Amino acid sequence: MSTPPDSSWSFDTLAVRAGQERSQFNEHSEALYLTSSFVFANAAQAAARFSGEEEGNVYARFTNPTVSALQDRLAALEGAERCVATASGMAAILSTVMALMKAGDHIVASRSLFGATQQLFGAILPRFGIETTFVDHGTAESFRAALRPTTRMVFIESPSNPLTEVFDIAALVAVAHEAGALLVVDNCFCTPALQRPLALGADLVIHSATKYLDGQGRVLGGAVCGAKALTEEVFKFLRTAGPCLSPFNAWIILKGLETLSVRMKAQSAHALELAQWLESQPAVARVYYPGLPSHPQHGLALRQQTGSGAIVSFDVKGGREAAWRVVDNCRLLSITANLGDTKTTITHPASTTHGRISPEARAASGIGEGLLRIAVGLETPADLQADLLRGLA
Ligand SMILES: *Cc1c(COP(=O)(O)O)cnc(C)c1O
Repeated sequence: MSTPPDSSWSFDTLAVRAGQERSQFNEHSEALYLTSSFVFANAAQAAARFSGEEEGNVYARFTNPTVSALQDRLAALEGAERCVATASGMAAILSTVMALMKAGDHIVASRSLFGATQQLFGAILPRFGIETTFVDHGTAESFRAALRPTTRMVFIESPSNPLTEVFDIAALVAVAHEAGALLVVDNCFCTPALQRPLALGADLVIHSATKYLDGQGRVLGGAVCGAKALTEEVFKFLRTAGPCLSPFNAWIILKGLETLSVRMKAQSAHALELAQWLESQPAVARVYYPGLPSHPQHGLALRQQTGSGAIVSFDVKGGREAAWRVVDNCRLLSITANLGDTKTTITHPASTTHGRISPEARAASGIGEGLLRIAVGLETPADLQADLLRGLA
């Protein structure tokens, strides 16, 4: 077992210390166990490990000490009984669905979702008899109206990608639980540094660790956090089906968590500064950022989150042509679909991350041709503004 979090430790202390297990060498930095299998003392121990009679590592599709350290640290940060790490954020979402649902079950999801999640729910799961109703408005009433007797899961992202729509997690917990369904929250944009959905009553938290948890754009990873009874089912699916996290990626993300809190604070501050500046630009029609008083759920974001995050989206006047001009004039901002990096990135969602979705569904999600999404990093905001001004002017 790894370092159990001391109940008096703060979030920042847990982020640096929780989950470390020192080996016989007493290393200070967490060890990277780059091994796919583990050796048994004798035949009897091998049998006991396989049957589950004796706890211990067997094979890295089941457990690996570096992956376990990451899981324990992230569980401590989310205030979860347990965390199960996965190969990517999409593997976390798929594993959750495969573990907890069956043909004939139904999902209610917000329309405003990561593009691949929309694809999974809307185009792939129906082939296996799992249907999703997408809800266009964020109110509890519209979610309630979409429920069916077979609804097993209500799934949201808050704030959402790319429009930063904020959902009332506690209100949606009540809606889901009335119907006997689970509330699952993709907490990618806020991370536990800014929002803890489990404390608001959510059943499971999903992460794309590829984003802020690593924070430096190096590896793919994902996680599912929540109560033991639910996460145990996810773990059973994962150890059999195999979309598990590599120990190398786990080690990178584990070290990323140590700076999560300072990065989220600094990147949120930079994002606010950039959002305010964008709002003053004549070429910009609208800015989407929960930290701005003009954001429709600004008050809710202030109550539910301890920071506004680092994703700023905005509509450029003049549609796709004008938006592409901004992108093509960037010399500092990276033109890439990733987000959550220390390096600021810029994306045109309608032609990239949300390009596979039908134009009608895209319009229903409010993703226009002039929309740009910026994931603000750690560069000085004035340098970002100078870079954007070239294309906006
Ligand atoms: C990136 C992302 C995902 C998917 O994560 P991967 O690690 O790319 O598989 C899921 N949800 C949100 C909000 C994301 O930004």
